[in-house]
Amino acid sequence: MPSPARKCPNCGRTYRPAPGSAWRPFCSERCQLVDLGGWLTERHAIAGEKAAPESEPDTDRGEPPR
Ligand SMILES: [Zn+2]
Repeated sequence: MPSPARKCPNCGRTYRPAPGSAWRPFCSERCQLVDLGGWLTERHAIAGEKAAPESEPDTDRGEPPR
C-alpha cells in the first residue's frame, strides 16, 4: 500500500500525496500557494486597514481571523 489518503486543508478534497511531495499537507502546489497567500492577504488587510469601510464585503463571512 502506498501513502494513505489525506484531506487537503485548502480545498477539502481527499487525495493521495505523492511520496516526497513538497506541498504535503495540501493536494497540490496550487492549493498550498492559495492557502498561504489567502491568510497572508487577510493578515495584511487587517494590519493595514484598521477602519474598514463598507467596501469590504469579505468581512461578512463570519470567519474569525487567524
Ligand atoms: Zn487542495
